[in-house]
Amino acid sequence: MIVSCVGIGVGAASRIAIGEAHLLRQGPVCVTQSWVTPLEVDAEIERFEHALKSAAAQLQTVRGQIPEDAPSDIVEFIDTHLLMIEDKAISSGVMQLIREQFFSAEWALQQHRDALVAVFEQMDDTYLRTRRDDLDNVVRRIHKILMQPEEDHQEPLRDKIILAEDLSPADVIVLRNEQIAGFVTDYGGPMSHTAILARSLGLPAIVGARGASYCLQHGELLVLDTRHGCALANCAPSVLGYYEDEREFQQERALLLRKHSTEPAVTADGHSIELLANIELSSDVEAAVLNGADGIGLYRTEFLYMNRRDIPDEEEHYAAYREVIDGIGGKPVTIRTLDLGADKQAMHDHLRSSGGNPALGLRAIRLCLKEPELFRPQVRAILRASAHGDVRLMLPMLTNLWEVAQAKEVISRCQQELNAEGIAFDPAMPIGGMIEVPAAALSAQAFAEALDFLSIGTNDLIQYTLAIDRIDDEVNYLYDPFHPSVLLLISQVIKATAASSKPLSMCGEMAGDPRFVPLLLGMGLRSFSMQPAALLDAKQQLLKQDLSILRAKAADFLQHLHKQDPLSMLNRW
Ligand code: PEP
Ligand code: MG
Repeated sequence: MIVSCVGIGVGAASRIAIGEAHLLRQGPVCVTQSWVTPLEVDAEIERFEHALKSAAAQLQTVRGQIPEDAPSDIVEFIDTHLLMIEDKAISSGVMQLIREQFFSAEWALQQHRDALVAVFEQMDDTYLRTRRDDLDNVVRRIHKILMQPEEDHQEPLRDKIILAEDLSPADVIVLRNEQIAGFVTDYGGPMSHTAILARSLGLPAIVGARGASYCLQHGELLVLDTRHGCALANCAPSVLGYYEDEREFQQERALLLRKHSTEPAVTADGHSIELLANIELSSDVEAAVLNGADGIGLYRTEFLYMNRRDIPDEEEHYAAYREVIDGIGGKPVTIRTLDLGADKQAMHDHLRSSGGNPALGLRAIRLCLKEPELFRPQVRAILRASAHGDVRLMLPMLTNLWEVAQAKEVISRCQQELNAEGIAFDPAMPIGGMIEVPAAALSAQAFAEALDFLSIGTNDLIQYTLAIDRIDDEVNYLYDPFHPSVLLLISQVIKATAASSKPLSMCGEMAGDPRFVPLLLGMGLRSFSMQPAALLDAKQQLLKQDLSILRAKAADFLQHLHKQDPLSMLNRW
């Protein structure tokens, strides 16, 4: 019998993955009280020492796999954990509890960890709090080794399908480097940055499949069908054969489409449309070029801040931007200033959002304006990069016009500094902003007049318009890009920006969603930015469109928006 777990599919070019399941247990390990007999003490101590050695060996392996160009802090982070494992203050305390209290190794470790944490907590110091997180991380690793069968510890993850309760965007980057085939999570929504990153990396995934990490078994063969949002186990040979053929067909189709990557994106009635790529890592520029992007419409630079404990400096920003500029070959590169916060958290304590509602908190431009010393190195690096290509700076999450004025002040001070230092930059580098908050959408014309270009971020625009946390799978069903208010806001932004004659693009997920492309064209949008893997399909779709017909259809659609179901109306186009 097929076992199936249903969630929301996340996939771009590759929609099918087939691979062995690998269960990634995160979160706290449940340790119960347990004892050994006096005769078992020596063996228990040996078991603990063996677990310490295995934990150290695991970390050494991870350390050896870190790419050379990875931030040095990832290495430091692992070294801190290695030092803790080797620290006698930790191991001798545990062994004493085994010897004197006859505790099992797991229970002794838990007791000793609780005693150490109690000391940390009394000290109320940010640095020590970080140490406590490190301690927990190390203890969790040793516990897992003590409690899991030996053969699981060092299993390579290549071609595996990861099962996890949840994964952060930072986890996905690490797993991608391990060359996994895909993943399934119990929690999370399709618009979370974890899902967006998976799409962008062409990694098939199912998110929000409640209970999947419990129903599906470690080691069994899984099929991920992201188009239908299901993970299948225990498939009959005929079903497996069907999916293998389908996967091959998709791979061949992608190769075929790639042959057309350099052809221009022109509609059937001769209008040129700009197709840009969204990227998260500088190395993603390769996929953008391969899929024929007209440039980078959104570079999510906050990914530079993940999986590390410090903050990237100006040189590191500059090197990443140069990699993208050099890779894209003279085409435009829109660098979005950092949008940390909500589900994109840095490990650095200072940058972690606190409070119960991070999506509404100190995020993106708010954080940058509050912490100019965080913003400045990035702005200087973008300016320096602008001397080497067609660079545009884009401000995220604008809500108030004064945020534009304040950001421009920081930019102009950086320009003065660079001038004084004799460092080259493009003084005419365009400064644009994202329209992703309803307040900004309603005032789009004023933002267009204050800036050189705009880009609609539909992922957040939907979240904030409909009051739906985009990462909360409990309210996923309410995250509705077809909601009339969302469509009206988009149409209003397109009209308002056209009135100011400033360029407008869209870089939210709607831009790469074939269900919306004809409508957006009909509304007047001429520039679309999407994950690289979606570009070739989008171009095929564009080639068949006739804008004069779409304009009339879009006008009629907007007029009847509240009278009929938007999805069924669009399906009839
Ligand atoms: C958006 O909100 O639509 C967007 C592109 O930004 P992000 O997904 O990074 O929040
Ligand atoms: Mg956004």
